[in-house]
Amino acid sequence: MASIFTKIIQGEIPCHKVAEDDRFLSFLDINPLAKGHTLVIPKKEVDYIFDLEDTLLTDLVLFAKKISKGIEKVVSCERIGMTVIGLEVPHVHIHLIPINSINDMNFSNPKVAMTKEELATLADSIASKLD
Ligand code: 5GP
Repeated sequence: MASIFTKIIQGEIPCHKVAEDDRFLSFLDINPLAKGHTLVIPKKEVDYIFDLEDTLLTDLVLFAKKISKGIEKVVSCERIGMTVIGLEVPHVHIHLIPINSINDMNFSNPKVAMTKEELATLADSIASKLD
């Protein structure tokens, strides 16, 4: 069965898209740890990041780098934290999270409530700042 992220890629499930090319997609996390929490995924459905073929893995990280520069321009923060967990959705994804302290990367923290409209506006703002 297709992963929920493959369904997003295929447009069956909506997302607040930040960027897309032929191999990668980036969109806001639906349940953000911080304003600007963004996911970066390969379109190829692979569960575990270290099963990705080398070129796809390195290019995924470079795509995430580009997205992080856009987030930094929109969300005030010390830096963008990057982590990979993957225990909930079996489709490779990098989390990009605006942080000011190590505690901001704690996934046990309460999530930030954002309306669909706020997420849409934020995604558009980040997208507009990408090189
Ligand atoms: P992980 O697999 O790394 O533990 O977490 C999966 C992440 O995907 C979570 O942060 C969760 O909020 C996010 N997520 C799960 N389903 C959806 C969805 O349908 N849309 C979006 N935008 N994010 C999702």
